[in-house]
Amino acid sequence: MEERWLVGVDIGGTTIKMAFISLQGDIIYSWEIYTDISNKGIHIPESIARSIDQKLEELNQTNNQLVAIGVGAPGPVNEEDGSVEVAVNLGWERFQLQTILERETSLPVVVDNDANLAAIGEMWKGAGKGAKNLICVTLGTGVGGGIIVNGEVVHGVNGGGGEIGHMTSVPKNGAPCNCGKLGCLETVASATGIVRLAKEELVSSNESSCLRDYEVHQTLSAKHIFDAAKEGDVLANRVVEQVAFQLGLSLSNLANVLNPETIVIGGGVSKAYDTLLRPLKDIFLQFAFPRVVQGVEIVTATLGNNAGVIGGAWLAKEKMINKPVFQ
Ligand SMILES: [Zn+2]
Repeated sequence: MEERWLVGVDIGGTTIKMAFISLQGDIIYSWEIYTDISNKGIHIPESIARSIDQKLEELNQTNNQLVAIGVGAPGPVNEEDGSVEVAVNLGWERFQLQTILERETSLPVVVDNDANLAAIGEMWKGAGKGAKNLICVTLGTGVGGGIIVNGEVVHGVNGGGGEIGHMTSVPKNGAPCNCGKLGCLETVASATGIVRLAKEELVSSNESSCLRDYEVHQTLSAKHIFDAAKEGDVLANRVVEQVAFQLGLSLSNLANVLNPETIVIGGGVSKAYDTLLRPLKDIFLQFAFPRVVQGVEIVTATLGNNAGVIGGAWLAKEKMINKPVFQ
């Protein structure tokens, strides 16, 4: 039988990542296009559809080669109809992504939140390979979360489930978060949050730190802070300790409730590997329930930017092949 392909699509604020993926989860061809956010992002489905057609043509294939499309959107998704509640970066509000993209491509479409897709991708082909109970946290510009229990993504009653980034970390006088709340984990553990913490430390103390130079030139980044901490900069280490504490505390509490097999830490900030992971693991051990500690492994993500498209492909396969009601 001819091997057909799944399509994984990961919509971000600046680029849309796309891939044709085998039924076994291997990327056959991947590419990306710019995200056209003009007119409140109305052209996005059309540009995805056109780009898929173009790639098929380049590869001498037709639409018949494709089984279904799994799409990750940067916002909460309504499971019933695959609409996106809101995606601030794209200008979407109650956007009928699934319906429009199905019309544009004549293919079945499944939509989920991008962080959930990353968790699924890591479960299928990445660091969580094989684990049916998994927590995935993505530390980037924001903090994304995806929780898988018994092989199923936790969506909650209206798509707001698994939002690890919006667990409250600072209950009093916390910094404002994009979600409208104060003191979310995202305000301390995202790249933006880490820089903010360092700026606060620089203002409130007089001690010397190599971070002051970057701050003067307004180039201070999370990477500078982790590099400085590694070099023994006291102030930078204090910031990393705070981040590790908040992340370790949140993850241990989640693990105490969910008893996961794997905790996957991904995103740009996770590249700080040992500088962040070692203190984070110490905090985790301090607050996690002994039985939970026995069962869990904390690992860094292995799929990088491909986690979303691979997760999308899994979702497409799951819905369209394993549940034939859709075909
Ligand atoms: Zn928040």
